[in-house]
Amino acid sequence: MAPTAANATQILAVRVWPAEDYTRVTLENDSELKTSHFVLKDPYRLFVDIEGLELNTKLKELVAKIKSNDPYIKQVRVGQNKPNVVRLVFDLKEEVSPQVFSLPPVGTYKHRLVFDLYPAHPVDPIAAMMEKGEWNKDGVSLQPLPEVPPAAIANKLETKSEEKLAARPDVPAIAEKTPEKLAEKPTDKSTDKPVQLTRMITIAIDPGHGGEDPGAIGRGGSREKDVVLAIAKRLKAKIEQHPNMRVMLTRDSDYFVPLNVRVQKARSVQADLFMSVHADAFVNSSARGSSVFVLSEKGASSTAARWLADKENAADLIGGVNIKTHDRQLASVLLDLSTTAQINDSLKLGKVVLSEISGINKLHKGSVEQAGFAVLKAPDIPSILIETAFISNPEEEAKLTDNVYQDQLADAVMKGIKKYFAKNPPLAKNRMT
Ligand SMILES: [Zn+2]
Repeated sequence: MAPTAANATQILAVRVWPAEDYTRVTLENDSELKTSHFVLKDPYRLFVDIEGLELNTKLKELVAKIKSNDPYIKQVRVGQNKPNVVRLVFDLKEEVSPQVFSLPPVGTYKHRLVFDLYPAHPVDPIAAMMEKGEWNKDGVSLQPLPEVPPAAIANKLETKSEEKLAARPDVPAIAEKTPEKLAEKPTDKSTDKPVQLTRMITIAIDPGHGGEDPGAIGRGGSREKDVVLAIAKRLKAKIEQHPNMRVMLTRDSDYFVPLNVRVQKARSVQADLFMSVHADAFVNSSARGSSVFVLSEKGASSTAARWLADKENAADLIGGVNIKTHDRQLASVLLDLSTTAQINDSLKLGKVVLSEISGINKLHKGSVEQAGFAVLKAPDIPSILIETAFISNPEEEAKLTDNVYQDQLADAVMKGIKKYFAKNPPLAKNRMT
């Protein structure tokens, strides 16, 4: 029997997360909803029929929540299609591949019905960054080439850098084009910088959480997803001051990125380093200090590290992933590749970064810890996860939202990156993703 108006599902909240990757619309409800959907073109529209629902004011709020600058949704119309059936019509700005799915209650969320609107023709991420002037930082002029896979573009950039170097009289070894020799030229007389990189270095910065997943929340109300994005943006700006470094942010605004997609994004730009930025939390508000984690091959280095990895890995549950498409993606990323070399490099990176952070904040533990963080599983990219401070500690929460501390932290990580490359010069790349 269809539910009547009296026992119809109540919409508790409506949220919209517009982003270039995709726009998400979430309806939070007190029970699971049955839906059907279809897309029509000329113009593109997504129709969603939701059963067992009466039109209420919460649902009508959705109309006003679609902003004119939403990348994919022009507007939404909401109406009672039949008794007990509400129809949503999304008028679209371009063709989308919609994913409609529901999520069971988790954390503080009740049932969620999610519409993820992905572009049917996604742009190449490097081409998009180049178009925004955020990628090509070495003065080499390149045309955006959307048809060329990211790996090929990266190789092209590299070749240009080498050509430039070859013209310099102080780098004679370039003629042999031996990758190792290229990398073994750490000095540059024109600058006192400790390391002179011989090719563009790409650093993936991963601000944790986002969108439906706020991460940890401080007593003062600060949200992990906001402070880590602010810190990540500061770090990005500092890294980009270095002429041979460029940055890819796995997210640059407030929306959710599944953990495996963060890894995929880093691999698609052939990142040299991956740094996931987080803020710690614990039930006891006196817990404090910064820490750095890397992947473990077997078992966590402590119970606390395992507990933390479990908590961070739960981001996908809170943030909300479509299980149907997720399993397929996971299978393609998490090939059983050896991670020993990755972990060794990650430990080296983690140690220098932790040591630099010790200059600006207390450390939660004096050594780099290891556990099975899903986001650190790029088999070929040294990856660390930085817990910048405890957002659950009121004193550290204040620090995390403070411009000065955010800046100091970004400086410390930057110093760590430079030291890492001074000791571990990047080799010329020839791997393909
Ligand atoms: Zn986190």
